[in-house]
Amino acid sequence: MKLICAVLLLLALCNVCFAEGFSSSAIDDEIFARIKGKSYKDNCPVPLEDLRYLRVLHVGFDGQTHEGEMICNTSIAEDLLDIFQKLYEAGYQIEKIRLVDEYDADDELSMRDNNSSCFNFRFISHTTTISKHGLGLAVDINTLYNPYVKMVDGKFNLEPATAGDYVDRSRDFPHKIDENDLCYKLFTEHGFEWGGNWKSVKDYQHFEK
Ligand SMILES: [Zn+2]
Repeated sequence: MKLICAVLLLLALCNVCFAEGFSSSAIDDEIFARIKGKSYKDNCPVPLEDLRYLRVLHVGFDGQTHEGEMICNTSIAEDLLDIFQKLYEAGYQIEKIRLVDEYDADDELSMRDNNSSCFNFRFISHTTTISKHGLGLAVDINTLYNPYVKMVDGKFNLEPATAGDYVDRSRDFPHKIDENDLCYKLFTEHGFEWGGNWKSVKDYQHFEK
């Protein structure tokens, strides 16, 4: 009888976990096997213990509920769970939340696919500074619609390169992040900085802490 009760209790608890759909856990062997040599490169200075594996629910561009997964720094895991839960409850549309490892940790490919992600050990493009993504402290949202725009050696540079339709931010279009956007409000409430507010470059998809 005790065993049956224990099993039922366990099942009930699991159901609660699944129903909520938002969880944070350590990087176990299975997850590590997926990221090793990809987003978690051999020279990565971040100890695995400092990273968390998140599962979140999100509303896709089809209006349906989807499961997303994300790896972030432990220090922002609680922030992200709260932010993604509020976005989900508000019906905020995020097309894809996949590990960048599904794109072989190629940020350009991930962005072209409009993927939203966080941890990816890398340097800021065209520099030798470790990106906040390399520390798991930055999140990119709906990346195709919210590109990273800057000048490199006097030349206009766009990431992803396919985001030309979304460079003009005075234009109105779906999934555009600006200061009226719920993503902007929630991330800044949690103490994140928005790349769209930077002066020298504009990174409209990017929130970092
Ligand atoms: Zn970013």
